Amino acid sequence: MKKDIHPTYYSDAKISCACGAVFTIGSTAKEISVEICSQCHPFYTGKEKLVDTAGRVDRFKKIKELQKKTSQVRKGKAVKKARSAKKKLEKEKERIQQEIKGNDILKAKPAPKKSSKPSKASAKSKKPAK
Ligand SMILES: [Zn+2]
Repeated sequence: MKKDIHPTYYSDAKISCACGAVFTIGSTAKEISVEICSQCHPFYTGKEKLVDTAGRVDRFKKIKELQKKTSQVRKGKAVKKARSAKKKLEKEKERIQQEIKGNDILKAKPAPKKSSKPSKASAKSKKPAK
């Protein structure tokens, strides 16, 4: 080896993991700290575990919880649909009531009543076609 060009080599460098495991290896750095190692990585342990770096899992869980809360407060599609159907029904009722009122007025004037008859007849003629 050439002199004065190689970094100091520590044959007993300490590797400390976030899980608490400590390894001794050869390295140019005296101490290395890692967040995952063969003692705690799910690939080696065989246990299912969420590997969390920089609290990303916590963030994800938080977001999920928030979504759950908002979904509880917010009405779903089914509720919205039911509500719109109810509104439609109420509108239809109003329309029919107005029509009935209109017919009462029309009763006084017999001429427009005739115009409503052909529409009824056409509705009847449509029914047998079905
Ligand atoms: Zn570890």
